[in-house]
Amino acid sequence: MKLRLAFLYIISAILFCLIVVLAIGSKNNKEEKKEEEEKIEFESGSTIELLRSATGQIESLDLNYYLLCVVASEIPFSYEYEAIKAQVIVARTYLFNKIKNNKEELADVCDSYTHCQAFTDINKLEEIWKNKGFSEKEIKDGEDKIKKAIVETQGKIITYNGEIIDALFHASSPQKTEDASAIWSGVDIPYLKSVENVEDEDYERRTSTNVISYATFKNTLIGNGYIDDLTLDEFKNICISEYTASGRVKSIAVGLYRIKAEDLRSLFGLNSTNFTLNIEDENIEFNVLGFGHGVGLSQVGANTYARAGKSCDEIIHHYYTDVEIKDIDSEQMKRGKI
Ligand SMILES: [Zn+2]
Repeated sequence: MKLRLAFLYIISAILFCLIVVLAIGSKNNKEEKKEEEEKIEFESGSTIELLRSATGQIESLDLNYYLLCVVASEIPFSYEYEAIKAQVIVARTYLFNKIKNNKEELADVCDSYTHCQAFTDINKLEEIWKNKGFSEKEIKDGEDKIKKAIVETQGKIITYNGEIIDALFHASSPQKTEDASAIWSGVDIPYLKSVENVEDEDYERRTSTNVISYATFKNTLIGNGYIDDLTLDEFKNICISEYTASGRVKSIAVGLYRIKAEDLRSLFGLNSTNFTLNIEDENIEFNVLGFGHGVGLSQVGANTYARAGKSCDEIIHHYYTDVEIKDIDSEQMKRGKI
């Protein structure tokens, strides 16, 4: 009797284990299937060629994966949903403008933010976010938010007079954005006009200061062929010589020379050309407002407007003058044409 009871126990235990194993297996299967389904829904079916600037290699990527990496590299996922959607449409438009005009010789686009758009692979970004203290759930939710914005705006691009626009954007330009013609040697781009801009004041790079010594300033300008010499007296008399229509600095007077503010920005790492000057002792101080060239959509501004209840379309129409938001289908996307 005891033996039979023991046998029954063993059989029940085996059966129980079997049920548990089967249940886990089927759960895993379901999860895998779910992941697969999500992946298929997210992928666009169009591929783009990305040039890796560090290695020179060209990779084929799904268009939506490319957009996910760009948008996640460009703005924090904590930004308002409508601002993220606007950045997605801008990123897609920027890409197709590159493709249509063959701006990248070897591929459709490259991963350098100075030449094309910022692009960091999502798994690298996940590591960065983790190191910044974001929880796994916050990271997953953030990624899902961007993916949703990509799928929801699928195929949408910005056009002017039926042509895909050069959708320039920047981080921050408190008060006013810049007219493209003020920066790029008088080229008038009708949809890239200076517009009023309201930005949250808590943006960490809203203001910045660069202090440069007389010696560094003089040697940098001489070394790059801008001036022949600079006396201390001339240094102390440096002043702003011209402003752009939007109120940014166009050039400064250094002795008998005029130096473009855009050149100063790259020579001395200024965050923008919206600055005031202060010269004390043997130092020149640049007090800078905003971050970036100031043309097109302001990312901080887009977030501010979204927080105030503006839609993604309203944000785009605010920053790009007289444009339309159009749908292109997957065939047009594949050819990069509209
Ligand atoms: Zn490029």
